[in-house]
Amino acid sequence: MSSSSLPTRQRLSEVRYEIRGELARRARELEAQGRTLIKLNIGNPGAFGFRAPEHLQRAIADHIAGTDPYTHQQGLPQAREAIAAFHKARGTPNASPERVFVGNGVSELIDISLRALLNPGDEVLLPSPDYPLWSAATILNDGRPVYYRCDPDNGFLPDPDQMEALVSSRTRAIVLINPNNPTGANYPKSLLERIVAIAQKHKLLLMADEIYDGILYDGHQFEPIAPLAGDLPCLSFGGLSKVHRACGWRVGWAVLSGDPLASGDYHHAMDLLGALRLCANVPGQFAIEAALHGQDTITPLCEPGGRLYEARRALIECCAASEHLQLVAPQGALYGFPSVVGAAAAGFDDHAFALEMLEHEDVLIVPGSSFNVPYRNHFRVTLLPEPAQLREVFARIDRVLARRAAD
Ligand code: PLP
Repeated sequence: MSSSSLPTRQRLSEVRYEIRGELARRARELEAQGRTLIKLNIGNPGAFGFRAPEHLQRAIADHIAGTDPYTHQQGLPQAREAIAAFHKARGTPNASPERVFVGNGVSELIDISLRALLNPGDEVLLPSPDYPLWSAATILNDGRPVYYRCDPDNGFLPDPDQMEALVSSRTRAIVLINPNNPTGANYPKSLLERIVAIAQKHKLLLMADEIYDGILYDGHQFEPIAPLAGDLPCLSFGGLSKVHRACGWRVGWAVLSGDPLASGDYHHAMDLLGALRLCANVPGQFAIEAALHGQDTITPLCEPGGRLYEARRALIECCAASEHLQLVAPQGALYGFPSVVGAAAAGFDDHAFALEMLEHEDVLIVPGSSFNVPYRNHFRVTLLPEPAQLREVFARIDRVLARRAAD
């Protein structure tokens, strides 16, 4: 830092968000030079030709004239009613409009919900790999991420005994991402029940990032954790970005469930933090009720013949055909998280590999270590491109890995 430059928050040096980091910046430079890139770094349906459903667009257009005032800090009443009804139908205990928080995407609510909870040095149990905003928000709200491992040899599922062994007197919450980004793991009911039991025993808040709840393949069923948690305070996160193909509208929600008496102070803290930022984007909130009626979601595209299903099939087939790749087939969400194995894995550095793919093969992928894992032989791609384009990407990946294996 030169003596004239502005100071920045020190803990930012611990924070990484490489999905939009150095490699993405380099990609923009290359594009400015005229290169055509295949960018697989962001799970952004709109960037791959997926449009938000028309009836959601209409719901916003029909109400745009009335969206000029601020609304309640927790969200528009009719939107919160629709979210509470959706959760009640799922069996979420004590879900009510008063316990719904609408935010500018789940992203904002992740930050607010951790800020409402943490004091300096408090610990949060996070999955490894994680969606890196969870680590970043924990750190920037003065907490300490403590990672429970979700390893590929266990289908990227956590081991509840290992999870419980990490609980300390400073632990405040368990975060789970289900279905998972980046691994695609979908947690079975028996595992969720074990996680609930740990949270109950140690009086921890459950924070369930379920933004991919409608994106499952091959008959896998999504199991929400809140209905299993009974009186235990639980925050369940969902939104319009993925299942409803409307990332840019910035609409997400969090539902507080369990015994209201056990989370009254926390509710007030969330409400206060919501009030300090006034309210979430109002026009987008008019689409929530229409969205939760369940028509025209992304879900049918996960069935055989559907675009996402076929992209996932391409991923699975390409990895199976490669002697350099191994894959735990994703059961849900929008990503593949393969590992590099065999001769190509010797001395492998996921960043150097991602940079080589960008500079020499015009493909932008995300290095696995961006997701807070201790190993460096994974990478993430999104399943959103056309299946044929994904096959082309894997041909290029295999070419680079074959070269590396031969070196
Ligand atoms: N949680 C997970 C697991 C995600 O993958 C994402 C976005 O990719 C988010 C939260 C943030 O979503 P939103 O667009 O609602 O802010």
